[in-house]
Amino acid sequence: MGQRVILATGNAGKVRELSALLAPLGWDLVGWAPPVRELRAEEGGTCAGNAILKAEAACAEHPDAWGLADDSGLFVAALGGKPGVDTAHFGGPAALVAAMRDVPVGQRQAYFLCVLALARPGLPTKLFEARVEGVIALELRGTDGFGYDPVFVPSWGPRSDEFGPTNAELGVELKNQYSNRAVAAGMVVEWGMDGG
Ligand code: IMP
Repeated sequence: MGQRVILATGNAGKVRELSALLAPLGWDLVGWAPPVRELRAEEGGTCAGNAILKAEAACAEHPDAWGLADDSGLFVAALGGKPGVDTAHFGGPAALVAAMRDVPVGQRQAYFLCVLALARPGLPTKLFEARVEGVIALELRGTDGFGYDPVFVPSWGPRSDEFGPTNAELGVELKNQYSNRAVAAGMVVEWGMDGG
C-alpha cells in the first residue's frame, strides 16, 4: 500500500479528477471534507492560503497521513478578477453568464487557477500552482466535468474564442491532460517521482 494521503475536499469532481491525475504515484488517497472555514477575498483570502488551511487541517486530524488540498477559482477580467477565491459562493455557471450579459465577445477573458497544497508532519507545506487561460462562453454548453466547466472555453482547445468548445464539451479525458488542475497535479507527480 502506498503513502496514505487525505484529500481535503468535499467536492466529488475534484476527488475524481485528482485520483486519476495522481494515480502514477500509487498513493492511497482518501477523501475527507475539512471542517474549516475558508477565507473570502475581503478577508485577505487567497487560493494558496485556503489550500494550506485545508491541507494542514487534514494533516492535523490524521497525523499518520499526509494532507493534500486543492483550492481553485475562476478569475474574470471584465468582473475585476471576480469571483476568484470566492468562486464557490458565486452561484454557478448560469449566474456567471447572467452577470456577463452585457460584456461583448472579445472582452470575456478569464483564467482558472488551481493551487495544490501538500502538508506532511514536521515539514513545511509545499505548494503547486497552475493557471489556464480562456474565455467565458455566451451560454452553458456540454455535460462533462463539473462546476464552471460548461462556460469556460480553454485556450488549449481547438478554438479559443467565445464560440469554441467548453471544458464540458471537450470532456474529462482532454481536461485531465491540459486543465489547471492537470498541470498542478503533474507538478506533484514529478515531485513525487523525484522522491519528494
Ligand atoms: P473551492 O476551490 O472549493 O473554493 O471551489 C472553487 C469553485 O470553482 C467551485 O465552485 C468549483 O465548482 C469551481 N471549480 C474548481 N475547479 C473547477 C474546474 O476544474 N472546472 C469547473 N469549475 C471548477
